[in-house]
Amino acid sequence: MTRKLFVSTALPYANGPFHIGHIMEYIQADVWVRFQRLCGHEVIFVGADDAHGAPIMLKAEAERITPQELVGRIAAGRPRYLQGFHLGYDHWYSTDSPENTALSQDVYRRLKAAGFIYSKAVEQFFDPVKGMFLPDRYIKGECPNCHSKDQYGDACEVCSTVYSPTELINPYSTLSGVAPVLRTSDHFFFRLSDPRCTAFLKDWLDTPGRLQGQVVNKAREWLTGEGAQALADWDISREAPYFGIPIPDAPGKYFYVWLDAPIGYLAALQHYFTTGKARAAGEPRSFEEFLSAPDTEQIHFIGKDIIYFHTLFWPAMLHFAGAPYRVPSHVYVHGFITVSGEKMSKSRGTGISPLRYLEVGMNAEWLRYYIAAKLNARVEDLDFNPDDFLVRVNSDLIGKYVNIASRASNFITRHFGGELRYAPQADGFSAEARAAAKSVAEAYEGREFGRAMRDIMAVADRINQDFDARQPWVLAKDPQRRAELQQVCSQALAGFHLLSVLLAPVLPQTAERVARQLFGMDRAFRWSDATTRPGRINPYQHLMTRVDMKQLDALFDVESPGAAPAVAAAPAGAASVPATDGVLSIDDFRKVDLRVARIARAEFVEGSDKLLRLTLDLGNETRNVFAGIKAAYDPSTLTGRLTVMVANLAPRKMKFGVSEGMVLAASGGAGLYLLSPDSGATPGMRIS
Ligand SMILES: [Zn+2]
Repeated sequence: MTRKLFVSTALPYANGPFHIGHIMEYIQADVWVRFQRLCGHEVIFVGADDAHGAPIMLKAEAERITPQELVGRIAAGRPRYLQGFHLGYDHWYSTDSPENTALSQDVYRRLKAAGFIYSKAVEQFFDPVKGMFLPDRYIKGECPNCHSKDQYGDACEVCSTVYSPTELINPYSTLSGVAPVLRTSDHFFFRLSDPRCTAFLKDWLDTPGRLQGQVVNKAREWLTGEGAQALADWDISREAPYFGIPIPDAPGKYFYVWLDAPIGYLAALQHYFTTGKARAAGEPRSFEEFLSAPDTEQIHFIGKDIIYFHTLFWPAMLHFAGAPYRVPSHVYVHGFITVSGEKMSKSRGTGISPLRYLEVGMNAEWLRYYIAAKLNARVEDLDFNPDDFLVRVNSDLIGKYVNIASRASNFITRHFGGELRYAPQADGFSAEARAAAKSVAEAYEGREFGRAMRDIMAVADRINQDFDARQPWVLAKDPQRRAELQQVCSQALAGFHLLSVLLAPVLPQTAERVARQLFGMDRAFRWSDATTRPGRINPYQHLMTRVDMKQLDALFDVESPGAAPAVAAAPAGAASVPATDGVLSIDDFRKVDLRVARIARAEFVEGSDKLLRLTLDLGNETRNVFAGIKAAYDPSTLTGRLTVMVANLAPRKMKFGVSEGMVLAASGGAGLYLLSPDSGATPGMRIS
């Protein structure tokens, strides 16, 4: 039976480029989706940018552009990643769209009609200078418990006490620096405490096979666990000014971004049905027909940080909104990716820039394989370790897989004109291939990709052992044993054909080249090709190179002796600025976020003869920047002075840590000079 699958990945916030954690999730979902497609199932695979909310509104304001311009710029950068990592989305959309507006308002109206929405007055901090209510993260003050200064409005980073922003001592707005005032406004709430809701969610969580066991346990803790209160009602509204979707019949009120973000999955699906791509594919159904069909499966791949929303709020919203909405069939949760054991941080990103990975010429399918080899169906973190990466890719993909083709096909091309012929007694192949295809298929289906890769490499080992044991290079010297040589090489190439099908979800581009170029097929592989044997092979063409340690050094930006002195972290994304004729448009220049920064601290970096580590104060945040200015400055002379930094460079992992920006300096034959603003400038001021 053909399955009908609607698959999404979590929506990335549209205020910055993808980091490696996003790419890991997309690879996980893409491998699963490609496996389903290989089996002949129908999949509509969507993603979208999460475009709304206060952070994007404020970032756009700081850059003096509209929020639409900001998210448009981010969206324009997405295809490079999606194509670069061979991610086969059918559609990538945005929550800032007419479809999402209509769907969000529709869901809200239905929930309201069913008695799940009410309003009540909420007292909240208001910034009288900015003229807006302040989200918790834009309020700082002294911790009421340990009295540490400059703690955020929701929790203390020093003593971990959780509190509400009104409990802070001497609170201030990080936007204007002034003391916020308490002001009351009416907010809308989704009544999660309604007994209908609790009863539904218990039932939803109990459905066998829907969620991973670890996820069910977590969600049950929130819902019914010891000490858990009944679910608190959920505040779904925000006051103007807000970049979001207006709440119907409530002037000046907007949906909180978390209400319309998951509805963005549906908006992307709906928009797909109206695109030329769907029409070209002869799509006869409407969005509503597809979504509400009883055999459609709705599947969300997400990270462990958003389990709460996806297993409680989201199914409750969908269930009580009613058809054509449906509750998710599955929510598949993964852990985080660490790099050499270092946890990645949301604000700082992580050590690997996906764009840099592509720019230094590394093969996307190496990363796809490496990530697949380390993924399982549990909610576990996985670690990217450069040495392990090099060994696995080179020994598995090149040493065990690609080498079979290059070794065996040379004999077939040279002596047999490309014709494959199998020994009559080699019938065991199809039984063995069937067994391998079955176990690997089960592993893919269950998202046990690591097990799938181990099974595949075990098959590769056996093919290589058989091939070596028969010593084809000896057979090739004996004209009497030509038939045997042909059979031995044909057997190995049938094995290579099998491996290519089994690896196709992970290595889509390589597998398609194998199908078309080597085996002369007029299409890409299907899963059923696993149990067939090819009749011919074309002359071998190069399929994949080995990983070079130099590429990994470039990826991690290990200090190179000739690096430009002041530019501590050359922008990885600079290629998007056209420099062909040496002229820069004002729009391109405005993309560079230049800020006044105060050097709060300057230190030597152990082991580096060029770098100083600078802690830069930007008014409402601090940044860690490595600057190649050691030869020109004694760190003790730098503390407290103002300089100029590029604040929107992608964070870069360097040998000594993560650099979160770049300071500007003049340099030439006569030395190196940090820039400074005139007196009166203060940290955080924008330079234009
Ligand atoms: Zn504290």
